[in-house]
Amino acid sequence: MNPFPLVLSAPSGGGKTTVTKRLMERRSDLGYSVSCTTRAPRAGEVDGVDYHFLTERQFIEHRERGEFAEWAVVHGKFYGTLKSAVSAVLASGKHVMMDIDVQGAAQFAGAWPGAVLVFMLPPSVEVLLARLQERNTEDGATLLTRLRSAHEELQVVSRYHYVLVNDDLEPTVARVSSIIDAEEVKRERIRALDSQLAELIQKLDSEILRHSSGIRQ
Ligand code: 5GP
Repeated sequence: MNPFPLVLSAPSGGGKTTVTKRLMERRSDLGYSVSCTTRAPRAGEVDGVDYHFLTERQFIEHRERGEFAEWAVVHGKFYGTLKSAVSAVLASGKHVMMDIDVQGAAQFAGAWPGAVLVFMLPPSVEVLLARLQERNTEDGATLLTRLRSAHEELQVVSRYHYVLVNDDLEPTVARVSSIIDAEEVKRERIRALDSQLAELIQKLDSEILRHSSGIRQ
């Protein structure tokens, strides 16, 4: 198998983190690219697991050394994916699940042409609003910023390969999982396809020869 990165984007409150976690529980062929951020950890978040929580200075140092496959400012904080984080997961033979914003997704797709880009739409604005409010982490100003971001994010959905509505968790997880299954058998991704085909064709040639000489007798 030829592993690939899968970028899952959605407006915040769109359920990316839940869908990603559920998929990772289900499939052993997925690894997660832990991003770097300069935002403060939320309750329960673990450094090195949910994010690498960095100071701005540390983040800028990584950026200046060209270590990010993509980076962006999201809600006023830096976020970025280390090239090494993606490569390490691919080297282990697993697909890389990436939960990044739309600016980062566009950059990443440019840098990593084999990446699969999936966008999850909220079923409605009411549902998006309710999901953001449920988090209890959103004060009025933050909520407004996230709604404005959602507005911008919906403008670039055309850059994505797949678009689905995240109305219910289970069907959404199943749909993303089937996207992974389909991408695995995409012709361009199949390793050594030419030699597999050459071998089959060679064997067929000799069978055709053997059968046609049988008919002539
Ligand atoms: P949160 O702070 O709520 O975890 O994430 C805020 C936003 O930042 C989400 O849209 C998330 O997808 C995005 N994000 C997380 N990690 C990265 C990253 O490495 N790069 C980019 N560009 N966005 C990220």
